[in-house]
Amino acid sequence: AANESALDNHHPGVRSAFEHVARRNPDEPEFQQAVLEVLDSLSPALSRHPEYARERILERLCEPERQIVFRVPWRDDQGRVHVNRGFRVEFNSALGPYKGGLRFHPSVNLGVVKFLGFEQIFKNALTGMSIGGGKGGSDFDPKGRSDTEVERFCQSFMTELHRHLGEHTDVPAGDIGVGGREIGYLFGQYRRLANRWEAGVITGKGLDWGGSRVRTEATGYGNVLFTQRMLERVGQSLDGQRVVVSGSGNVAIYSVEKARQLGATVVACSDSTGHVVDERGIDVDLLRQVKEVERERISVYAERRTGARYVEGGSVWDVPCTVALPSATQNELDADAARTLVRGGVKVVSEGANMPTTPEAVRVLREAKVLFAPGKAANAGGVATSVLEMRQNARRTSWSFEHAEQELAEVMAGIHDRCEEAAERYGAPGDYVLGANVAGFERVAGAMLAQGL
Ligand code: GLU
Repeated sequence: AANESALDNHHPGVRSAFEHVARRNPDEPEFQQAVLEVLDSLSPALSRHPEYARERILERLCEPERQIVFRVPWRDDQGRVHVNRGFRVEFNSALGPYKGGLRFHPSVNLGVVKFLGFEQIFKNALTGMSIGGGKGGSDFDPKGRSDTEVERFCQSFMTELHRHLGEHTDVPAGDIGVGGREIGYLFGQYRRLANRWEAGVITGKGLDWGGSRVRTEATGYGNVLFTQRMLERVGQSLDGQRVVVSGSGNVAIYSVEKARQLGATVVACSDSTGHVVDERGIDVDLLRQVKEVERERISVYAERRTGARYVEGGSVWDVPCTVALPSATQNELDADAARTLVRGGVKVVSEGANMPTTPEAVRVLREAKVLFAPGKAANAGGVATSVLEMRQNARRTSWSFEHAEQELAEVMAGIHDRCEEAAERYGAPGDYVLGANVAGFERVAGAMLAQGL
């Protein structure tokens, strides 16, 4: 009810679409939140284009084309059997094959996968490339599992999933809990079962077997490039900014690296146990060694780095900064954290993770005139570089780091400018939330209308 009243002043088509979604997906708070966030921007577009409401585009968009839920049995190193649940939500294919990552984390359920898949539709549309939206994963917890356990789990997961995939059908990649190691095991099992060396069926592959340079770095690098362009628009730059990044996974690590290259100082990052503050600037090589190679807790970083301190528990958003890059997980930055950031002088918040900022926190930041970039725009560099990987696979070629990075920079500039243009066209210059939602929506809706029911 609280959610529905938030739409009181909206176009009747928007209100009825949300009621429809709330009624049909009652136990999926993250999915409802993601839908509400997008619909909240769409009233002006519906008023201008009566055909959207007439053709029920919103109801059609909010219903996944296909949802696959499956059993994933596997055996641990002691011989015990475990049963997890696997998901793939093939949400929308109007613009291209389903594309989106796989998340392995105990918090994963159908509603979480649907929220991520829904976001992915608009994100992928914003890149300007030919990809639809999808997402998958499992409630499997890779933490503390050996390589052989992860290998067996990935093989079991792919044993079911492989029949639904294909380079022109559905193309997964990584997300939380799914990195290079997991992609290797998943691709290997696909190749054996399909008897096809079909590189374009999954992205994030190793460089020797079809992967693209810059794919690992792309989400973090892309978010920082997006931030840089937002700052340039208001006559500023990243040089000299004080940055806080939450998380310490793939997105966080490469945000730290790129922010530093552009002259900023990243003073803090975190994991699920706490955060580290390092006023000299986070040392990326040490962070990568601790989190990626050793798979250790973030406290180990502080133990090995003079001058750095570890804060157990607490919030990384208590560390004052001018640029905040939430890069851990959904709803990690709440209204209290947003108020703390505003008091500390934050100028930009740009989402490296998917939906890390709660709706109340977004309101606080907007009222304080903080530049805010939603993840579906700011973190789209990852999936865009996945498409660059697919292009190289299709042509059986492999680009240099410089070339791939240049392409990524062009894609991020394009995404920024599409958001900016749509926001201006709808009379809300500088509103990246409205711009991203409307620009992504218009492209998908246009394709759906043209292609019929
Ligand atoms: N999981 C990433 C995302 O949230 C990347 C998806 C992909 O490369 O397909 O966009």
